[in-house]
Amino acid sequence: MTTLTTADLVLAGGRVVDGTGGPERVADVAVADGRIVAVDALADVSAARVVDAAGLVVCPGFVDVHTHSDLTLLSSPAAHSAVRQGVTTQVIGNCGLGTVPVPPDTDAAALRAAVGFLDRDPAVEWRWRSLLEYLETLRAAQPAVNVMTLVGHVPLRAATVGFARRAATAAERDRMCGLLADGLAAGAAGLSTGMVYPPASYADEAELVALGRVVAEHDGVFAWHVRDYADGLLDSVAQALRVGEQAGCRTQISHLVVVGRRNWGAARAALDLVGAACERGLDVGVDVYPYLAGSTSLFQLMPGWAQEGGAGALLRRLGDPAVRERIRDELVGHPVGWDEIRVSRLPADDPQVVGATVADLAAARGQSGADVVMDLLLAYDAAVDMVAGGRCEDDLREVLAHPLTVVGSDGFALDPHGPTGSGMPHPRSYGTFPRLLADYTGEGGLPLPAAVAKCTGQAARRLGLTERGVVAPGYAADLVVFDPAVLRDRATFDAPQNYPDGVRLVVVNGEVVVEDDHTGARPGAVLIHRDRQEIGEQGCRVPR
Ligand SMILES: [Zn+2]
Repeated sequence: MTTLTTADLVLAGGRVVDGTGGPERVADVAVADGRIVAVDALADVSAARVVDAAGLVVCPGFVDVHTHSDLTLLSSPAAHSAVRQGVTTQVIGNCGLGTVPVPPDTDAAALRAAVGFLDRDPAVEWRWRSLLEYLETLRAAQPAVNVMTLVGHVPLRAATVGFARRAATAAERDRMCGLLADGLAAGAAGLSTGMVYPPASYADEAELVALGRVVAEHDGVFAWHVRDYADGLLDSVAQALRVGEQAGCRTQISHLVVVGRRNWGAARAALDLVGAACERGLDVGVDVYPYLAGSTSLFQLMPGWAQEGGAGALLRRLGDPAVRERIRDELVGHPVGWDEIRVSRLPADDPQVVGATVADLAAARGQSGADVVMDLLLAYDAAVDMVAGGRCEDDLREVLAHPLTVVGSDGFALDPHGPTGSGMPHPRSYGTFPRLLADYTGEGGLPLPAAVAKCTGQAARRLGLTERGVVAPGYAADLVVFDPAVLRDRATFDAPQNYPDGVRLVVVNGEVVVEDDHTGARPGAVLIHRDRQEIGEQGCRVPR
């Protein structure tokens, strides 16, 4: 029994699942000045507000280690799709995609097209050149969630090598490393690469190791969208681990999936590679989202050679019949069938196209799937997104169950009623965490405390966040209260923009952001990862 005189908020008598993976217990949780001040049976506390949480689960707010909200948070800072599912912290700058740095000699239009997957509201102006300036813009937007960023490899390479398909020279590599060091010094938590996204995809291993060493010097994390999640999965995972070991940097394998029916079952072998690297001493983790489809730019289906020079060059090439013939040939035997690839977003909503599969469009137009894809890219200036399947439940469960795996949505902060709500986005932006906790726990799944830890404390640790992700005194008051009997993801591939049921209360830095509905509060902090400093800004302590 703790005696506490005052508190701003008390969540009384809930089932506290504290984010450490330890067993749940019934306790009161008291919050004052944005922090958790007590987790105990409280007597005689005078609180500004008491919420009866009896029978409900009280857990840390979800730490989404893998998002692409870099631009959507500027357009939709209320972050409806995130907070309504209980997310209180998002990590942006994943998959090599990012919006900084943009030094004056960068082809900014080509960069904006290359990271078009992030770009869901053309009204958002890019007024920044450095990470510091970007973070100022983000702070001014007042997001509802806390935000931590990685530096993306795509803008780094666009700023130094441009869109040429070749290895960087030693001088270019040094410049890239310098820009990365600037970003890390400004507060980024690490680096991400996307080995399928030009121009990052043109990097050789010497470049990746050099960048990894800079990450290691700043005690950051290096997150990998690996080169191939289909036929080349094991080699691609091995590359990330090899670079991590050579550079000595913390390593994260992003959204580990197995793509293509012929590769199903490979999750075990990929996890064994990760586990062996961990045994050898590499600080390595994995993240995953609980769905059997992914989503990215449609142009990712185009071969790397066809994308050399950026989106403009790709579109010019697609007008050449010989190029089209070669691409058609290369796409024969693609691991994901045309009936498993759906158009999810266009610059202008066309109900005939958005939501249709490439196979549907091919049948309607009397064309091959490859020609449909190339014509869509041409018609919409390459600004087309897809949702692509080809995965299986057994692999997903294998990855989820692994002790090194945490959960990351790979989604966006979206507002279904704003510009970011266009198209038919992947439902993971709305449902990842309720889906995980409702559908992948209990019998045949994870124990609830372990599942919560993968969404909170364990995820926070991957980023060096030591003051978030756990319900304990001294931690930031990022909290979720949900009703386990009602919790349900309601976002589907056909109706993706539905909020989940059962999330009762969401608290960010001590302020209530969701109480059944969004309250309008936007108390999120921009979290700074500060190297060699005990306590960073906004309560991010970097472990030494
Ligand atoms: Zn990715």
